[in-house]
Amino acid sequence: MGRLYDNHNHSQFSFDGKNASVEASARAGKAAGLSGMCFTDHCDFYVPAMKASFEHCIPEQFDIAAQQAEIDRVREDSDGFMIFKGVEIGLEVRSRENIRKLLAEHEFDQVIASLHYLDDTDPFWGGYYKGKDWKSAYGHYLETALEEMVWLGDFDIFGHFDYVARYAPYPECSIFYKDFPDIFDGILKYLAENGKALEINTKTYQDYKGRTPVLDKDILLRFKEMGGEAISLGSDSHNPERVGENFPYYEDFIKSCGFAYTAHFQARKPVMEKI
Ligand SMILES: [Zn+2]
Repeated sequence: MGRLYDNHNHSQFSFDGKNASVEASARAGKAAGLSGMCFTDHCDFYVPAMKASFEHCIPEQFDIAAQQAEIDRVREDSDGFMIFKGVEIGLEVRSRENIRKLLAEHEFDQVIASLHYLDDTDPFWGGYYKGKDWKSAYGHYLETALEEMVWLGDFDIFGHFDYVARYAPYPECSIFYKDFPDIFDGILKYLAENGKALEINTKTYQDYKGRTPVLDKDILLRFKEMGGEAISLGSDSHNPERVGENFPYYEDFIKSCGFAYTAHFQARKPVMEKI
């Protein structure tokens, strides 16, 4: 295993990370043989109420100062294990100005932009898929993500492009390049031209209700073809047990697509690490 970094982890500062202390996850990352990790707690300005639509608009933002102070504290005893300060920004059209303001007011090592909520729902709760076939559900998600990330611009990594497939009710549980070549070209070209990283989020490739999505090689090959260089690995851990999950497998996967490096970010600058 090369020098690998887990760039996508949630801690006790995320609303859904209560079982993941910065300290325990950092210990787990080190024990797993990683060289470092980044804590990217959730920051969303509009959140759909469970199962239904946006009945409430509850901002789910973590206490950034507290998270960063805790990272500083844990770093003191980390013995060379790198711990970075990050955020996972939830792209959402009504949140645009708030997101921009938040990023301008805080310093992070790394910013993940990702899409969780759209059409006033969270795919996690299933409502998003009603009245959509798999093709329109995935296509609309990817198009919305592209639109919002281009508007934002101020981010380093596009997170879990396949979040929408994780909880989908269709037999088609993986997203393939061949089904959405134009939208993928738009996303991959934007990332490549702007030096941003495409994330491989290993949480997507887990068994969910008896089916397991796979990562399509053609997406990485096309990214490379378009001049993309930065691939980011993230477990999307919400507990210490998942930190760095399946990274050796995806390290080989990345290499087999012709990439010689993975990327992580320090002070918002990419660091390319040979694998
Ligand atoms: Zn996420």
